[in-house]
Amino acid sequence: MSSRWEQELQTAVEAVVAAAAVCRLVQSELASTALEKNDRSPVTVADFAAQALICRALRSAFPQDPIIAEEDAADLGDPANAPFAERIVEFVRRAGVAADLDDVRQWIDLGDAARSTGRVWALDPVDGTKGFLRGEQYAVALGLIVDGRLRVAVLACPNLPERLATEKAAAGRLFGATEDGPAWTAPLSAPRRRATIRVSSTPRPQDARFCESVESGHSSHELAARIARLLGITRPPVRLDSQAKYAVVARGEADIYLRLPVRRDYREKIWDHAAGTLIVERAGGRVSDVEGRPLDFSRGPRLDGNRGVVVTNGALHDAVITAVRRVMRESHSG
Ligand code: AMP
Ligand code: MG
Repeated sequence: MSSRWEQELQTAVEAVVAAAAVCRLVQSELASTALEKNDRSPVTVADFAAQALICRALRSAFPQDPIIAEEDAADLGDPANAPFAERIVEFVRRAGVAADLDDVRQWIDLGDAARSTGRVWALDPVDGTKGFLRGEQYAVALGLIVDGRLRVAVLACPNLPERLATEKAAAGRLFGATEDGPAWTAPLSAPRRRATIRVSSTPRPQDARFCESVESGHSSHELAARIARLLGITRPPVRLDSQAKYAVVARGEADIYLRLPVRRDYREKIWDHAAGTLIVERAGGRVSDVEGRPLDFSRGPRLDGNRGVVVTNGALHDAVITAVRRVMRESHSG
């Protein structure tokens, strides 16, 4: 069955696959030495190059569509950053795109939309930058929101194997969904070889497996452990960077993903959740904030109406939300 969003999906798949290839190239050539030197420049090169490529592709296919993306090109015009800017241009060119620095800066700055009314794309060119630097999980995430509703999602996870237990050498998965079709996965090297995915059918919380951020600064590990204990979960959490966590729930390898606020004032960004949310929902799962409210993608770059994120296979959602609310209430009063 063909989707109403076929053209958008196709454009998004091609752009994300090309951007993921550039990220891989940057990672293999630059990232391994950078980690020792505590140098973040490889991830920044990948971030900017990926955002330039994806914004360029979206502008060409859908000239009117605004884009809300994580990066802006303000610093790239500074002569002090010239060598660094040249590397970005070099990687964009290696993706087969003729470009100079002005082109690249303009493409990056297409991602500066601030409102999410009507049609808007949400882009995280490299989600999970810490994972990228460690050579672990990261993702290229792109979603289309129309009138506040998620319609199209594409997520590339260049280091994610077909199953978590299998060899990393065979890694690289693509995930996608449209609002009118099932969620699917494909090898990143063969995006047309789609297979439908479904969340798990685990009905009992005590049998569940949950995942969370590697970084305890992004999601409280301590609260998650208390919630798990309350639900009778005994298996240790699966810790992954980036929206790979959504992918792992969508394909049934984990039953729950908890993202529990560590700071009262932090608001989640739409590019960190748009693609993952639609993929999990179309795989049969549920996504809400810690209170059980649906995520509201209509408010611009931030999820201003929500706090934290809870993702489940659907069957477990109410039980998980009850436990989350109880533990969070206790942690505030205690
Ligand atoms: P993860 O890889 O799941 O840990 O999430 C990576 C994302 O966390 C980044 O893209 C940031 O936008 C986001 N982030 C940064 N600071 C925080 C925070 N204090 N709480 C939640 N998420 C954050
Ligand atoms: Mg991110």
